Amino acid sequence: LFAGEVEFLKGVVAMDGLPGSDRIEVCFAGRSNVGKSTLINALTGRKAIARASNTPGRTQEINYFTLGAERYLVDLPGYGYANAPVAVVEKWQRLLKNYLSGRQNLRRAFVLVDFRHGVKPVDEEIMRLLDSSAVTFQCVMTKADKVKEVDRAAVLTQVRAALAKHPAAYPEIVLTSSEKGMGIPTLRSIIAGLI
Ligand code: GDP
Repeated sequence: LFAGEVEFLKGVVAMDGLPGSDRIEVCFAGRSNVGKSTLINALTGRKAIARASNTPGRTQEINYFTLGAERYLVDLPGYGYANAPVAVVEKWQRLLKNYLSGRQNLRRAFVLVDFRHGVKPVDEEIMRLLDSSAVTFQCVMTKADKVKEVDRAAVLTQVRAALAKHPAAYPEIVLTSSEKGMGIPTLRSIIAGLI
């Protein structure tokens, strides 16, 4: 599913650069270093497809990938960079807000949360934005291999409590490890099931 069917389409820096909304799309959001590029690579079965979004200068772009013939996968810029200039943060918040509120074909946002850290204030900010944009979002825990089974419940309790405050949150949390391939098939079938 999807492997070999993924191509980089374009990096978008302004609303007028968005491709047509002829396909349904899903987007991925997360704090920088959460493991977003690695997850997208694991999901698409390509080694370095999302690498481009990590190179300096491209970090503020919304990166579009075609997923088969019917979907787009959208890689949103990572947020929460330490030392990011205020002007840069504001520009990206504006683009993000416009994108989320104006994209009819956006079926779901995946908000990535590092399993070691749980939901942080910057994640809550994105979740509030998704609420106000009425975009259903689903929480994806990353780097599960870094957290021992016994320690997982406490983090998940914190995450569930955070999600409960957000009307746009989809209740089911997806646990993933790109390293181990855990949760990747689940995520693929969730995306494939969206119509
Ligand atoms: P991004 O900034 O969100 O795109 O994060 P990256 O995908 O570049 O990942 C940040 C770091 O976390 C890299 O060093 C990755 O190798 C590491 N990483 C990503 N996913 C996993 C995972 O599932 N398990 C482990 N152990 N490390 C991961």
